[in-house]
Amino acid sequence: MSSDLTTRAADTPAPGTPAIEIRDLHKSFGDVEVLKGIDLVIRQGEVVCVVGPSGSGKSTLLRSVNLLEEPTGGQILIEGVDILDPDVDIDRVRTRIGMVFQQFNLFPHMTVLRNLTIAQEKVLGRRTTEARKVAQEMLDRVGLGERGSAYPSHLSGGQQQRVAIARSLCMNPDMMLFDEPTSALDPELVGEVLQVMQDLAKEGMTMMVVTHEMGFAREVGDRLLFMDGGVIVEEGVPADVLARPRHERTQAFLSKVL
Ligand code: ADP
Ligand code: MG
Repeated sequence: MSSDLTTRAADTPAPGTPAIEIRDLHKSFGDVEVLKGIDLVIRQGEVVCVVGPSGSGKSTLLRSVNLLEEPTGGQILIEGVDILDPDVDIDRVRTRIGMVFQQFNLFPHMTVLRNLTIAQEKVLGRRTTEARKVAQEMLDRVGLGERGSAYPSHLSGGQQQRVAIARSLCMNPDMMLFDEPTSALDPELVGEVLQVMQDLAKEGMTMMVVTHEMGFAREVGDRLLFMDGGVIVEEGVPADVLARPRHERTQAFLSKVL
């Protein structure tokens, strides 16, 4: 990749600085406490996979990291910056964090290329020529360099999700959050999306991935977290947790999904 497009912001902290630090995070919806004290540090370049039953709080945790959910207690630091500090410009922090959802959320009335350039122009203020150059580079990276002029509906689900990943990458994020990125896909399309994510991980992207793909977690994850009932029940090297879960709840969950 050409260096001008990938140069990190001058204020990016040195390697080794934790990318994400979460301290005693709590989140309630009304009377229902959904996150009950989460402590988690994710280092630059680390790939952390999050698994657990439906309703355990995985999405709420992920969404809290860029304040799509407002915590009711605790602390979140992104690259050392306390994002709950009212003086912090959260929109600026959010540009450092890419997010990919189960539903791809592409604009259906725009071409793939336009889907990839619009936020670059409107949020980052890039000129159209530069935004297009970056978009093309990122489409090439996810193996869709030829599809810039297509509309999303003309692409398969796997291709649409790769476009969504490319769109995130266009913003030059320091870290990526994935919330069940392959759960809406037909089984035969899952692999191509996981491959793109694996490539990203190899290139050193900091990633937090909620997934049911245990093969991915084992092969690509540096760490696996098992969540249940709003807490992290267990964590460790993925192969270890998967082969020898220590907690009864982890064992019960894994016996259903493996
Ligand atoms: P997971 O992603 O692990 O399936 P979620 O984080 O989506 O779990 O949800 C955890 C719990 O919080 C669930 O019981 C869910 O119903 C509840 N919840 C999530 N979002 C909201 C909301 N906006 N309002 C009320 N309850 C919510
Ligand atoms: Mg979820």
